[in-house]
Amino acid sequence: MTRTVYVNGDYLPETEATVSIFDRGFLMGDAVYEVTSVLGGKLLDYAGHEARLARSLSELEMTNPVSAEDLLEVHRQLVIRNGIENGLIYLQISRGNAGDRSFVFPDASVPGTVVLFTQSVPDLETTPASQKGIKVISFDDLRWGRRDIKTVQLLWPSMAKMAAKKAGCEDAFFVKDGMVTEGSSSNAYIVKGNRIITRPLSNDILHGITRATLLKYAAETQYEIEERAFTIEEAQNADEAFVTGASTFITPVVEVDGKAVGTGAPGPVAQRLRELYIAEGKKAAI
Ligand code: PMP
Repeated sequence: MTRTVYVNGDYLPETEATVSIFDRGFLMGDAVYEVTSVLGGKLLDYAGHEARLARSLSELEMTNPVSAEDLLEVHRQLVIRNGIENGLIYLQISRGNAGDRSFVFPDASVPGTVVLFTQSVPDLETTPASQKGIKVISFDDLRWGRRDIKTVQLLWPSMAKMAAKKAGCEDAFFVKDGMVTEGSSSNAYIVKGNRIITRPLSNDILHGITRATLLKYAAETQYEIEERAFTIEEAQNADEAFVTGASTFITPVVEVDGKAVGTGAPGPVAQRLRELYIAEGKKAAI
């Protein structure tokens, strides 16, 4: 099926949607993005994604050419026009078409390029990864120092994912100064007894929207939250490990660098948190 996508105010068939070769997103990786999941035709954690988008833009001195109200309507229209029951909405805003290539930002009067498209994922709630868990490798975290800004500069995470694939694994835990920062496209956690341990927020990691919501739910139930960095060895010896992300919710990690975590199967805490996140997320979805 040809998707209907959104480009700078227009809804178009994907085959007719174009962006200039001079677009800053294309030439410089000068763009930010968000991914919002859709369950039962509704948007999960939308307010969080909207707020983080505004922060990413502001940190890069970019303005959003679309109002908050209109952007929500674009999300809704894409869900309707593409008949999305379960899936994802990708949004990208670049600094726009500067008309040439230059390191200097174009004048603020140049409007940003806004692109949104959908990805249908019918089994989003029950993906094989969520049922079986994933294996991860450790990978040197050589990304730039502003990982808190959600930019489209995803080459190193792509290289980490490819290294994981070559090793017969699904993902990587980035490691900086001997401590895990996060997954290649997720936040990382370990579980010890009743305690959920995850790295505190800083410029070292993306401030995950799923992370914020999950920690709120977890604190409201019986879990203790400890925000501190952990090592690969600690992850290998933990009761459980898991990752979170808007497109994967809570996904158990069953192996780290070839060593089974816990029993080597998805653990009860990760499974319970996943159920909780999906159930509460659906109730709050808009
Ligand atoms: N860290 C990184 C590096 C990511 O790419 C992502 C997902 N894009 C996350 C964490 C998870 O963030 P969220 O829960 O907002 O999807």
